[in-house]
Amino acid sequence: MTDAIIIDGNSFAAGLRARIGRQVAVLTKRHGIIPGLAAVLVGDDPASQIYVRSKEKQTAEAGMASMGRRLDSGTSQEDLLAIVNELNADPGVHGILVQLPLPDQIYTRAIIKAVEPAKDVDGFHPINVGRLVNGEDALVPCTPLGCTMMLKDVLGDLTGLNAVIVGRSAIVGKPMAQLLLAENCTVTVSHSRTRDLPAVCRNADILVAAVGRPQMIKGDWIKPGATVIDVGINRIEAPGRGVGKTRLVGDVAFDEAVKIAGAITPVPGGVGPTTIACLLRNTLTACCRQNNIDVPDDSGE
Ligand code: NDP
Repeated sequence: MTDAIIIDGNSFAAGLRARIGRQVAVLTKRHGIIPGLAAVLVGDDPASQIYVRSKEKQTAEAGMASMGRRLDSGTSQEDLLAIVNELNADPGVHGILVQLPLPDQIYTRAIIKAVEPAKDVDGFHPINVGRLVNGEDALVPCTPLGCTMMLKDVLGDLTGLNAVIVGRSAIVGKPMAQLLLAENCTVTVSHSRTRDLPAVCRNADILVAAVGRPQMIKGDWIKPGATVIDVGINRIEAPGRGVGKTRLVGDVAFDEAVKIAGAITPVPGGVGPTTIACLLRNTLTACCRQNNIDVPDDSGE
């Protein structure tokens, strides 16, 4: 059997960002509107700082306005709520994202619920969760949205395929299940209490791993020819690269899986880049909906 197609998330995301950039240009030219994204970062967690910087850079490159807020780690819940309310009321801000995790003194669910649903570009507000479940227009969490777009790009119509999702978090596993149901897949959501997980995975035409456990899913858990989407981002020691060195791996044992799967996303360079591109897409969608206009196509005038 030949090795799987490696799904190039960097290239997919670059294409998506370029398209969004063209759509934003049309929107601005035609309607004089510049979509605005406000990223709120509380504290100095290094990974969160990198994510937010990257989001802001890509927002600007797509021709959107980026209005970041940096708050110190001791910020109270009351002060953060006041800032979210200020951004909710600002007509130049079309999308708000509060970078998670938040410091312990802040109750995350209260902040998520405070974001105006129309500006909730992370798609975490209960209103957007409910709309997604109901099949109504929702702002959809970026990671599962990107995974679905990549799957459709690789496989075309997903109708009738067996999809197994490993992980049931509110930000990845559950919305992923809703999106694949909407694509007419037969969906199984598995988790830490699932019995005989390898057998469940072996039934998957589409296997989405969102667990947070390095290389947990082995090659012989994968149905030959299946499409594997590895959402996991895990840092492990890499002694071969020198003392104290680390590297990123997914939730799938890539070297084994690549010999069995039909197509697979690598880590890094798979799902990660597409997630940020989908944040830009959600900001454009949110901006157009708030202004009661259709998202422009990218073919120019
Ligand atoms: P959570 O910790 O919120 O959820 C993990 C899920 O995996 C839970 O549902 C848990 O089950 C399940 N799980 C844990 N252990 C096992 C096991 N041994 N067998 C089966 N299921 C198990 O994680 P997230 O969903 O937030 O993230 C998952 C991974 O994706 C992480 O590595 C994260 O870093 C990465 N991620 C990547 C993103 C990207 O842009 N590429 C974005 C978001 C996340 P249970 O519910 O029973 O506890």
